Amino acid sequence: VLNRIDEVENLVQSYITICRKSLLLSCADKIDTMIKNGQILDDLAGIPMAVKDNICTKNLQTTCASKMLKNFISPYDATAVKKLYDKNAILLGKTNMDEFAMGSSTENSAFKITKNPWDLNRVPGGSSGGSAASVASGEAFFALGSDTGGSIRQPASFCGLVGLKPTYGLISRYGLVAYASSLEQIGPITKDVKDCALVLNTIAGYDNLDSTSVKRRKVNYLKCLKQDVKDIKIGVPIEYFGSELDEDIKKKIFNALDILEGLGAKYDEVSLPHMEYALPAYYIIAAAECSCNLSRFDGIRYGYRAESYNGIEDLLIKTRSKSFGDEVKRRIIFGTYCLSKGYYDEYYNRALKVRTLIKNDFQKIFDEYDVIIMPTTATVAFKLGEKKQKPLEMYMSDLCTVPVNITGFPAISIPCGFKNGLPIGLQIIGNYFEEETILRVAYTFE
Ligand code: GLN
Repeated sequence: VLNRIDEVENLVQSYITICRKSLLLSCADKIDTMIKNGQILDDLAGIPMAVKDNICTKNLQTTCASKMLKNFISPYDATAVKKLYDKNAILLGKTNMDEFAMGSSTENSAFKITKNPWDLNRVPGGSSGGSAASVASGEAFFALGSDTGGSIRQPASFCGLVGLKPTYGLISRYGLVAYASSLEQIGPITKDVKDCALVLNTIAGYDNLDSTSVKRRKVNYLKCLKQDVKDIKIGVPIEYFGSELDEDIKKKIFNALDILEGLGAKYDEVSLPHMEYALPAYYIIAAAECSCNLSRFDGIRYGYRAESYNGIEDLLIKTRSKSFGDEVKRRIIFGTYCLSKGYYDEYYNRALKVRTLIKNDFQKIFDEYDVIIMPTTATVAFKLGEKKQKPLEMYMSDLCTVPVNITGFPAISIPCGFKNGLPIGLQIIGNYFEEETILRVAYTFE
């Protein structure tokens, strides 16, 4: 993998920080010695992994792809990272992303632009674009991403990979730099469904360091990978198969549904009537939460501080003006507006009501169906620069991914063929903590 990084990293630019080679080789030696001593190792021992740069790692920078945190080294490891270290997985480096995970193309990074390994003129998706590109190009065997509104599934879809956004509360968020806390989860980006189950087995589970973590019985996700979908009932929401959806993607998704039907599953058209409000509700909630979460970056406690200033207010203004990028500023301003007196009810509170309506729509379907199948994205990977100056168009690319973040349901994106040589993603959504079911359906296509 290190050789592969030497070969392709210049072109793909997946990483912000790569660990020192000598350190990595000594980790590998340690594993060798353990094997020689006859120790039984976990499946992940010695496996090279990449971690998104908004997930804290003790001895390496965690920059969130922002000038604000350019030199920040966390004093602790995120729980998900710690659990992987405990199994002797080896961290190769920290991957590029949209600044503070705000974006859908990884073009909002303060440091570099990651390319899609399938076509270097296209985006890898975002915000976990570096994580997806690293796995797709062979620069890591698997990666961790974070998904606030699609940031694991959309890049997985654009790069021909498997990406899982788990149920809210399944994986600890301790050590994930907060963007919109009520929406986001850490999750795996892998080459196939089995790897996804393997990584999930390690990182899922209760953590008392995250107050939103949920206590549940331990599940072995590898065990649910039977190739059996008999009697699985699938809902296909008509709202996501309209004119915005690329015709070729639609065909591929229906091909996949026919395969499932051939194996004994059944699918029906269903309706999620409030879905047109999902995207606006998401962007109000996400911006509102981001405006609060990012207030901790004040030039005093973390990261960058303006060189010269005149008093505390000037320090705050100069520090934040100079170190946040345009998209981050746009959201802080918009979020602050949505939460301000006089507008709170009209925007934020209304978005919360919409959130409940959308949740009820899903719940009704899950009363009758095991999973929902729909596209992950309405198009394949778009060209670099195509949407960079058009924030609304960029936001529109999250149409199919945000509903499960608003509601907390788990969803996986798996590869579902190609259009003009570019990967297509199919999304499987399940009821709360039904990761087993969505992995089982996904495994059909392996
Ligand atoms: N593209 C969405 C946003 O910009 C989702 C990002 C994410 O999931 N982190 O908010």
